[in-house]
Amino acid sequence: MSKSTLCAPNLRISLAALARESVHCGLNQGTSGNVSVCSRAGFLITPSGQNMAALTADDMVEMNLAGDVASESRPSSEWRFHRDIYTAFPEAEAIVHAHSPFAVALACLRRDLPAFHYMVAMAGGVDIRCAAYATFGTQALSDAVLAALQDRRACLMANHGLLAWGRSLPAALVLANEVEALCGQYLRACQVGEPVLLSAAEMQEVLEKFKDYGSRD
Ligand code: 13P
Ligand code: ZN
Repeated sequence: MSKSTLCAPNLRISLAALARESVHCGLNQGTSGNVSVCSRAGFLITPSGQNMAALTADDMVEMNLAGDVASESRPSSEWRFHRDIYTAFPEAEAIVHAHSPFAVALACLRRDLPAFHYMVAMAGGVDIRCAAYATFGTQALSDAVLAALQDRRACLMANHGLLAWGRSLPAALVLANEVEALCGQYLRACQVGEPVLLSAAEMQEVLEKFKDYGSRD
């Protein structure tokens, strides 16, 4: 793919800001995690192995949905699950992947996040699944993530972290932060006892209310 501009220049600025924000809000550190934004013709993604806190607009890597790269730098090793999410979920406009402390802790137990709190419904369903383990940067990991994301906008990733997609860059970041907060709350409750879970009917009521709650990003 030749050097092109599938994505508007302001998207590069916004994505670099999101990458830095994912560090400042405690979701990521060092080279951990990656973020992307999609413009349907293609997507921009953070480069591989770079310090997330120092990324600038020029560092962002442009790809098309066939997986061709139109930038000098190497894209995130996780470009496959970013591409596959944009292909599977046409509403997805941005993705945040993070190695945040509580999500990693729960993902290392390989446990789904159950309906212990109604905010679990923010990810679109009655629970937030933990995707099966696969090596980072592989198609196997992308396949596992896509399975866990069925009817959901977020999932945990076994022995790895979390992932959230949104209809905008801020929405993806808000959801990633919410999932991290929920993991922390759930783990704390588990330290004291067995959290009481909401019933399927109670969660269904919440899912209905969420249809017209907030910005619906
Ligand atoms: P990249 O630097 O290649 O994006 O890798 C970080 C990561 O989180 C891999 O899962
Ligand atoms: Zn990762």
